[in-house]
Amino acid sequence: MSKNIVVAIDGYSSCGKSTLAKALAKKLHFVYVDSGAMYRAVTLYFLRNLVDITSEKAVAEALVNIHLDFHARDYETHITLNGEEVSNEIRDMKISEMVSPVSALKKVRTEMVNQQQRMGKTANIVMDGRDIGTVVFPQAELKIFMTAEPHIRAQRRKLELLQKGEDLPLEEIVENLRKRDEIDSNRSEGPLKRAFDAIDLDTSFRSMDEQVEFVLEQVRRVQREIK
Ligand code: C5P
Repeated sequence: MSKNIVVAIDGYSSCGKSTLAKALAKKLHFVYVDSGAMYRAVTLYFLRNLVDITSEKAVAEALVNIHLDFHARDYETHITLNGEEVSNEIRDMKISEMVSPVSALKKVRTEMVNQQQRMGKTANIVMDGRDIGTVVFPQAELKIFMTAEPHIRAQRRKLELLQKGEDLPLEEIVENLRKRDEIDSNRSEGPLKRAFDAIDLDTSFRSMDEQVEFVLEQVRRVQREIK
């Protein structure tokens, strides 16, 4: 039996990580895991249950009561929080505003990283996030680090929100992305960081097809090397 392959995709908010990861997983018949969706679902639970994130005890107690599950359907992220499908709600701006402080908590990260590592043991996977190539799978067969110009990222995010019916001023989106990147990059636990052995991919002026082709070429190389 051949070895499982992990493709780790990290990068700043709204660089197109999940769109690329999804397309790759579909082409390769790999399992796709959107790690950001997990942090977003935890944030939704914390908001709904008014969990005091300054209390380690409250956070630990809350985490025991959170059960997350992914359901693969057409390579879209269908995530359930204690049995309830929350895939849509976790994309709301109210979640985007709280997700980085929640994700900076050590207890939250430990729990999510454990779950993510378990997922990587059983299948070929593509996982996107902030610390996948550095903390979750430092031995990943392939690591990609994505960047894109800030105004292009904000436009992408605006479109995504519009498609969900949320029409927000561009400045508010720019500010949210800036703040999240800042908190994500500066936290002590699993900060957003380029792995030293990652391959850079600037998506600003590349079409999705070009991005997919670029990474597929890298996957083919890895597959040849490990044969
Ligand atoms: O990928 P997405 O933008 O949906 O992630 C939302 C937030 O979840 C990020 O801004 C970050 O705070 C957190 N996150 C994280 N580690 C990951 C994935 C996401 O801290 N691996």
